[in-house]
Amino acid sequence: MNGRVTLLGAGPGDPELLTLIGKRRLSEANIVLYDRLIDPSLLAFTNDNSELIDVGKMPLHHKVKQSKINEMLVEYARQGKKVVRLKAGDPYVFGRGGEEAQVLQQANVDFEVIPGITSAIAGLAAAGIPITHRDFASSFHVITGHHKKDGQQLDWENIAHQEGTLVFLMGMAQLPNICRQLVINGKAAKTPVAIIQWATQWRQKMVIGDLENINSLVEQNHLSSPALIVVGEVVKLSPQLNISRPLDGIHLLVPFSKKQRLFSNLEDLGATADFYQRSLIKPLEQVLPNLDKYDAIIVDDMNAYHQFINLLLQDGNDLRRLVNKEIVAGNKQVARQLKKVGILASLELPIDSPSQKILEIGASEPIKGYGDFLQLYKKESRNLSLPFDLREFNGVIFPSTMSVKDFLDSLNEEQRSQLSGLKAFVMGEKVYQAAKQGDFSQIIRCPTNIKETIVRIKEEFIHG
Ligand code: SAH
Repeated sequence: MNGRVTLLGAGPGDPELLTLIGKRRLSEANIVLYDRLIDPSLLAFTNDNSELIDVGKMPLHHKVKQSKINEMLVEYARQGKKVVRLKAGDPYVFGRGGEEAQVLQQANVDFEVIPGITSAIAGLAAAGIPITHRDFASSFHVITGHHKKDGQQLDWENIAHQEGTLVFLMGMAQLPNICRQLVINGKAAKTPVAIIQWATQWRQKMVIGDLENINSLVEQNHLSSPALIVVGEVVKLSPQLNISRPLDGIHLLVPFSKKQRLFSNLEDLGATADFYQRSLIKPLEQVLPNLDKYDAIIVDDMNAYHQFINLLLQDGNDLRRLVNKEIVAGNKQVARQLKKVGILASLELPIDSPSQKILEIGASEPIKGYGDFLQLYKKESRNLSLPFDLREFNGVIFPSTMSVKDFLDSLNEEQRSQLSGLKAFVMGEKVYQAAKQGDFSQIIRCPTNIKETIVRIKEEFIHG
């Protein structure tokens, strides 16, 4: 069986700048190899069973050598796997994508290349700089600051004489040299320069200066790689066109499933939300008891509900099998979700029904604990190589007690000590109690709905 390698452009960082096909490929992948420029939020698009390999950060902070990455790509494809090589920006704009493709072609491995939005263009826009503008630049030039062969020089005279915007990638180590060469070869010393670090990401930082003073500005403001060096008159537009949003720069962790609305709302406000789901839902192939004997069914959560319906259908039955039975939701949220599938569940147990006439369906143990219990799925820990440095987050949002437990269980000692710098936003009183187990800098009570939780988060970071 032959696998396939997808060289996939991840875009400049903001997870929503991935292409639609890119999102689909991530969800189809068996293995994803990603590197240090990738925002971990993107990994939320992978399916729960895929293996995630961080080739940018291995033990002792060494990154995996390019030759090893090439070997891994070929090897996994030969095992029949769908491999995604997730690369920053566009796969063929620097970053050695072309070399990877050559290796795959030579090894006779099926591969494809999916374009991505390159930081060389989008990174400027994210800082309010149009790469071309009728008044300032009628061309742009993307140049590497890093050379394969030592001593190989760029044609500085040619570059310095371009009227268009110059964008240098991988150039930070060479910044003084780049500025000097441009001036020596005829660019005005006052030509505007912008340095944009981590463009489109929560940690985006920028300084603006000119060819003469940009080096000291970079040092004063501690900017470093990965960054874009932008040289040209278009830089002057940044103060006018750089739009800010209320939660810009705020980085939040949601250690739970991909709650789409929470994600979109936070992103729309400028924050970055990283998702992290450690436990996998494993449905259990149970035999359903004779449902005739039950008056009421307690649904602890929607995973149990969906598996229940699957099992009903497998038996040749459908929802009509539940006619005349009372459906009770495990909590308000479950009641809301059941309403979406057309069931008006109650929250109260039928008082007059004897317990032997009640069936509760759920995960490992009953929530209500009244009547018979049927376990319909279990949770398994996912072996996720997603090493978060918690110091990079402003806060963590817990939608359930389970998410708190899962999160705290998964921390290593170092991460545990990082909790003291982290605010915990907890949705509901029970979750508040659970969060007390962690040594958070602050635990902030939020209502159990997403909209008001967002309001609370905004208050905390905008006024707090
Ligand atoms: N293929 C990538 C570039 C890979 S080379 C692309 O199309 O964007 C790596 C260099 O890209 C970094 O050294 C840096 O100069 C630049 N880069 C990539 N992502 C960036 C980002 N989000 N912000 C600033 N620079 C970035």
